[in-house]
Amino acid sequence: MDLLPGEDACAWLRAQQLERPAAEFKTVLAERLPKRFAQRLCEHWLANKPLRQYREAELRDIAVQLADWPLIASGTEGYRTAEVTLGGVDTDEISSTTIQSKRVPGLYFIGEVLDVTGWLGGYNFQWAWASAAACARALESGH
Ligand SMILES: Cc1cc2nc3c(=O)[nH]c(=O)nc-3n(C[C@H](O)[C@H](O)[C@H](O)COP(=O)(O)OP(=O)(O)OC[C@H]3O[C@@H](n4cnc5c(N)ncnc54)[C@H](O)[C@@H]3O)c2cc1C
Repeated sequence: MDLLPGEDACAWLRAQQLERPAAEFKTVLAERLPKRFAQRLCEHWLANKPLRQYREAELRDIAVQLADWPLIASGTEGYRTAEVTLGGVDTDEISSTTIQSKRVPGLYFIGEVLDVTGWLGGYNFQWAWASAAACARALESGH
């Protein structure tokens, strides 16, 4: 995650160092990030001291970290709050135009039961409705 999107973090840090050498890094960072988040970053990962005490290499290192902060999910909330499931009927096994099973004529699969997984944001509904519409059209036309 880029914690300072659209900003050259190194140039920003250098400018802050010149303008406010006595200011502590966590104070300056808290002006760009939520205060408690900035404090935690400085407590655990980024050294906190007055800006004048940072060497150029340290500023560069901090800038690299701010621009590319690794985020590792600690887990999921499990099935209880799942909004979409992976897996299902293999799409290679169905006709992409009629949604009919290639193996069992007259058998149709639509929506979530197929192995199609969209991003959150409407794509799963879209797939459910679009596949249902294709199926309905095929049934209507007697395929
Ligand atoms: C909390 C939540 C939030 C979501 N938010 C979004 C979102 O914002 N945008 C988005 O695109 N997608 C969202 N989704 C995913 C989306 O809802 C599903 O992908 C979509 O509803 C799948 O449609 P479907 O008709 O294939 O299956 P379903 O909507 O699951 O319909 C299957 C139906 O079959 C019924 N059924 C099951 N077994 C039987 C049986 N034996 N006999 C008779 N009926 C049976 C079920 O009761 C159910 O009504 C969300 C899902 C969840 C759980």
